Amino acid sequence: MADIIKLLPDHVANQIAAGEVVQRPASVVKELLENAIDAGATQVKLIVKDGGKSLIQVVDNGVGMSTTDARLSFERHATSKIKSADDLFNLQTKGFRGEALASIAAISHVEMQTKTETDELGTRLKIEGSKMVSQEPITTQKGTSILVKNLFYNIPARRNFLKSNQVELRHITDEFHRVALVHPDIEFHFYNNGAELFNLSETTYRKRISNVIGSKMVERLVPVHEETDVVNISGFICKPEFAKKSRGEQFFFANGRFIKSPYLHHAVVSAFEGLIKPDTYPGYFLYLNVDPSTVDINIHPTKTEVKFENEHALYAMLRSTVKHALGQFNVAPVLDFEHDPNLDTPYDYVQKEAVLPRVTVDRGFNPFEQKSTQPMPARPSVKGWENLYAGLSTDDRQSFSSLEFESESEQKTFEGDYLEHARQTPTFQLHRKYIVTTIKSGMLVIDQHRAHQRILYEKFLKEITVQEGVSQQLLFPIEVKFSKKELTVLNEIKDSLANIGFIFEDVKKDNRVKLSGVPSIMAEHQIASFLDGLISEYQEGRSHGGTSQAELLAHLLSKNLAIRNGEPLEQESQEALVNDLFSCKEPMLSPSKKKTYITLLVNDIEKRFL
Ligand code: ADP
Ligand code: MG
Repeated sequence: MADIIKLLPDHVANQIAAGEVVQRPASVVKELLENAIDAGATQVKLIVKDGGKSLIQVVDNGVGMSTTDARLSFERHATSKIKSADDLFNLQTKGFRGEALASIAAISHVEMQTKTETDELGTRLKIEGSKMVSQEPITTQKGTSILVKNLFYNIPARRNFLKSNQVELRHITDEFHRVALVHPDIEFHFYNNGAELFNLSETTYRKRISNVIGSKMVERLVPVHEETDVVNISGFICKPEFAKKSRGEQFFFANGRFIKSPYLHHAVVSAFEGLIKPDTYPGYFLYLNVDPSTVDINIHPTKTEVKFENEHALYAMLRSTVKHALGQFNVAPVLDFEHDPNLDTPYDYVQKEAVLPRVTVDRGFNPFEQKSTQPMPARPSVKGWENLYAGLSTDDRQSFSSLEFESESEQKTFEGDYLEHARQTPTFQLHRKYIVTTIKSGMLVIDQHRAHQRILYEKFLKEITVQEGVSQQLLFPIEVKFSKKELTVLNEIKDSLANIGFIFEDVKKDNRVKLSGVPSIMAEHQIASFLDGLISEYQEGRSHGGTSQAELLAHLLSKNLAIRNGEPLEQESQEALVNDLFSCKEPMLSPSKKKTYITLLVNDIEKRFL
C-alpha cells in the first residue's frame, strides 16, 4: 500500500489550533491584552466593534518588535518569553505558548503595526487566514497595534455559533475586568462602537476596583493582608452585608493572572460563615503571590484553573486571613457565649434607687390577629392585592371559566373540578405558607409562594412578549447608579423591562439611570436593590444559557416579586391567588418546575380512617 500520511500544511494546522485558543472574540481580547502587558506597556487601548465580531484592536506603548520579530510572531510556537522547558517553572509573563498570534491570524484578517524604541522605522504587516498579504515600513510610535477584523470569516460554523453582539461584548468586558483589576499601574481605555466604556488612569488597587466594578465598592471594601513563606495575600473582601445572591464579584489572581479555584473560593466563603445568608456569595478581590515554581499554570490556553503545590496550607491561610480582616474591621460580631450582657449593671445604675416596674396595656391588641413577623414587603399581601394582576385584563380573568378541560388528563380534571366549586369554596391559610381549599373530589393544598410565582411568570412573560405592562408613574423620578458592566446588561434587557412597566429616561453621565415609572407591583424603595439583584442574576442565568431572554427575565421577576412564605394573606387575597393559579396555562408547576399544589382525595382520606 502506498504511504498515505501527510503533514498538514501550516495554515490548516493553525486553523485547528485556533479552535483551541480562540473560542469567541473575548479570547482574542484576552490574548492581545496579555501580550501588551507582557511587552511592558503603561498605556493600553482596546477598541471593539459589534461585540468584537467585526473589529478588535489593541494598541500599546510597550517595547514593540523588530521587523523580523514582527514576522516571526505569527509563526506557531514562536515566543520570546521562554527558551527552555525549565523556564516553564519560573514564569513571569502571561504568555509563553507562542500560539496566540498564529491562531488568531489563521481565522481572521490581521493588521499589525509595531516599532521598537531604537528602530528608526516601524513595520506594518497584513495577514489574511495565515497568508502574509503585505509588509511595509512605516513611521509610527514605539509600541504595537494589532487589529483583528472579521473573526472566523473562514469558519462559518464558528461564526454562526457566536451570540448576540451584546452577549459577546459582555464576555469581552469580563476579560477586560480580569486584566484591568490586576494592573492598576497601567492606564486602560476601552471603546465599543465608538463609545468610551472605560477610561482608567493609573491608580491604587482600591480605586481601580471601584472604577471597574462601580463606585459604590469604595465603602464596601475591607483590606486583607498577610505575608508568609508560602504566599503573600493582599486585596479586599466586601463587607458581609453586601453579599449578593449571584456570583460575579469573586476574583482571585495568582501572580498577576486571573484564576478560578473552587477550593480557595470555599476557604473565603467559610470565613464568612455565620455572617452572610446561606444562599449569598461574598465579593472578593484577592491577589495571591507565590513562588512561580510552586504553581502550575494550566497548560491549556483557555483554562483558568491552576494547581498550587501547597494547596492545603494556602486554604488555611486564606481562611484565617479573611477571618482576621473581618474581625479587625469590626465586621464580625464579637461572640461571647459565656457572657450574658443582660446581667451587667452599668456603674452609675448601681447607686440609683429601684423604680417600680410599670405595666402598659395595649388595648388594641388582639391575640387572634395574625401579624407578620417579617417586615412586610411593599407588595400587596392584603391591600393592593389587585395590583398583582394589574395588566391581566378582565377578559383574561374571566376567560378561564369558559375554558374546557379534557377529562382524561388528571391535572385538568382537578382544575375543572376546582372551577365547578370555585365560587363557593372557602379557603384558609395554613402556617402562612399554604392555601387550603376544597374540590369536588377532595382537598387542594397550594404552596402560596410557588403558586404566585407561576401566576407572575405567565403575566410577565406575556407582557414582555405581547402586551404592555402597567406602570406607576413616580412623583419624583429616581436615579439609580450602575457600573459600566451592569449598564451593558441593563441595555440588553431594557426593552423587556420597559414592556413590563419600567420607564427609563436617559442615562446620565456617571452611569446614573433615571427612572420615571416602575411596574405597579413594585414599591419605590425596592427599585434600586431590585434592579441590582435582577441584573446580576440575569447575568448569571445568561451564562448558563438554554432559555430565551423573555423566559429568563419572567422567571427572575416572578421569583423576586412573588409573595413569600410567612406572609399572612387575607381571605380575598387567598381566593384571588387560587383563582388566578387555575387560570394559568400551566398551573401545576412553578417556573422552576416544582409542584404548586397537591391534592388529597376523599377516597384516600376515607381509606386512612379504615
Ligand atoms: P506568547 O505570548 O505566548 O509568546 P503570542 O503568539 O501571543 O505568544 O506572541 C508571540 C510573540 O510575539 C511574543 O512572544 C512577543 O515576543 C511578540 N508579541 C506579541 N504581541 C506583542 C506586543 N503587543 N508587543 C511586543 N511584542 C509582542
Ligand atoms: Mg501571548
